[in-house]
Amino acid sequence: MKLTLFWHRRDLRQHDNAGLAAALQSGYPVVPLFIYDREILDLLPSRRDARVTFIYDEVERLARQTEQAGGTFLAFYGRPLEVFEELLTQHEVAAIYTNEDYEPYASERDTAVAALAQRHGAAFQALKDQVIFAKNELLGKNGKPQRIFGAYRKAWTEALRDEHLAPYPSRDLYTAERLARLPGAAPRPTLAGMGFEEFRQEVPASELPPESLVRNYHKTRNTPGRVDSSTRRSVHLRFGTLSVRELMRQARELNPKLLAELIWRDYFMMLLWHYPFTATESFEPRLRHVPYRNNEEEFRAWCEGRTGYPLVDAGMRELHQTGYLPNRARIAAAGFLVKHLLTDWRLGDRYFADKLLDYDMSQNVGNWQWMAGTGVVAAPWFRVYSPQSQLEQYDPDLAYVKRWVPEYGTSAYPAPIVDHKFARDRAIETLRAAYRAAQ
Ligand SMILES: Cc1cc2nc3c(=O)[nH]c(=O)nc-3n(C[C@H](O)[C@H](O)[C@H](O)COP(=O)(O)OP(=O)(O)OC[C@H]3O[C@@H](n4cnc5c(N)ncnc54)[C@H](O)[C@@H]3O)c2cc1C
Repeated sequence: MKLTLFWHRRDLRQHDNAGLAAALQSGYPVVPLFIYDREILDLLPSRRDARVTFIYDEVERLARQTEQAGGTFLAFYGRPLEVFEELLTQHEVAAIYTNEDYEPYASERDTAVAALAQRHGAAFQALKDQVIFAKNELLGKNGKPQRIFGAYRKAWTEALRDEHLAPYPSRDLYTAERLARLPGAAPRPTLAGMGFEEFRQEVPASELPPESLVRNYHKTRNTPGRVDSSTRRSVHLRFGTLSVRELMRQARELNPKLLAELIWRDYFMMLLWHYPFTATESFEPRLRHVPYRNNEEEFRAWCEGRTGYPLVDAGMRELHQTGYLPNRARIAAAGFLVKHLLTDWRLGDRYFADKLLDYDMSQNVGNWQWMAGTGVVAAPWFRVYSPQSQLEQYDPDLAYVKRWVPEYGTSAYPAPIVDHKFARDRAIETLRAAYRAAQ
């Protein structure tokens, strides 16, 4: 029996899934599968990782739904090339379908899997699913990616047609007639079998956020003290348990500010695909040799939320306890690390990468480099936010700070580890000197 394989990665859902819909219309019975990729998992610093448990729960849900629909869902713990080598040898595979993934490792991996498939006479099809516009679709007039977000957003908005946001009929096609049954398939890996502990952190529902929240989003998004200040759907967009098209449709109808934030997500994914080196290197060549201080004690104080700047500390403590922090707290914490403590943005990027449940390389790198002023997006390197003014502006009644820093206002709370004005001047002078020296 000839088969089509559908490889889930960052799209852990059956509804509105571009690649899955195409696979189900390929004319061959489909076997959906997931690979717990050792190339990624072996690098994780801890065996107690909420993201791995989240993925595991979602894969098990997909497997149950597939069995209920009359098909077989395969899951493996291994290296994709080895897994596919075995599958392509054991079965007569017509094609492997999947959705595009724009991270540097994923691009290389997919190129290798496509070549392997070709050697076995199978096609490899990757579809655009996790963004609306990708790769070269919206370049500037000079044929290069836009460095000004406003210009990109304008081009994005002008190019948008209803069909870009239309749902794919993958769920309706997910029927016994289109799925393959493989009796005797190997059991799926368990968390313990892969050496991971169960570790669940609270995650909001994967459904669309309430309409009232979305309508008010532009007014609430910068008030971290409110639990419903923003959609909190980032983790679902990251793992594809929510379709970005679905959320974009809601945003387009109800709130242009939310749509603009979602366009940032497309933008950063496109930038990382064009400039994969920015995952580990500043885009701005004149800021590649900044004499960052990288003071270990201060870095630890930042990680543990003991800087003496309450908005920064509240954010870092929330991150530590929940795997999440609101955008405004991310900005305060990141700005403080790169400017006030004059620390290499890559250390902050790594720390967030280890802790954030919604960690996404393109979003994290894009935002960290934006904060550091080193990125593709033209952000001024000499901008230094005052953590105190940010606190007064965004958490005036201290609702956020009191939730995460209960000892704030008592003698148990530390004094600021550095004076704002001194740190601001030091950052600007150091960055200016580095910038000039490189010219
Ligand atoms: C230093 C720093 C690191 C970040 N790292 C990540 C990361 O690893 N993963 C991640 O998903 N987001 C990251 N962000 C972006 C943003 O903070 C989060 O997406 C947002 O806080 C998630 O909460 P939400 O879903 O309630 O967002 P909402 O405000 O409800 O926005 C809805 C969606 O729009 C997108 N979005 C919102 N703000 C941004 C933004 N600034 N850049 C890109 N997309 C945005 C996200 O997909 C988000 O889920 C980072 C921001 C900063 C400043």
